[in-house]
Amino acid sequence: MSTGDCLFCKIIAGEIPSGKVYEDDDCYAFNDISPQAPTHVLIVPRKHIDSLDKAAAEDAELLGRLMLAAAEIARDKGFAEDGYRVVVNTNGDGGQTVFHLHVHLLGGRPFVFPPG
Ligand code: 5GP
Ligand code: ZN
Repeated sequence: MSTGDCLFCKIIAGEIPSGKVYEDDDCYAFNDISPQAPTHVLIVPRKHIDSLDKAAAEDAELLGRLMLAAAEIARDKGFAEDGYRVVVNTNGDGGQTVFHLHVHLLGGRPFVFPPG
């Protein structure tokens, strides 16, 4: 897919509105339009990469920055100590629907059942 057709590239460019929660030189984060938890944030690299499957060795630092951004947002939101879930759906069987690599940060409720 060319970046011109990519939904998340358009969100990063401000061509489609989003609820921004964080940005830095490499990453942009915004609220998921269909949240699966009280906090459901998507963290995306500004660089278009189709999926984790397409990430290369040169993207290693960028992948780390996405993870660190997720952890920082979790601390800012106040649920880091309670815990949270980070997910990278990849390709068809992984449930990926938007082919611009992204990290889901889900928090504000337990994901372990039974809780505790
Ligand atoms: P995936 O299924 O590819 O791992 O995740 C894509 C996510 O993007 C889904 O959770 C979906 O709700 C979210 N999403 C799809 N379209 C939009 C949109 O236009 N705006 C926002 N904020 N999220 C979107
Ligand atoms: Zn893109």
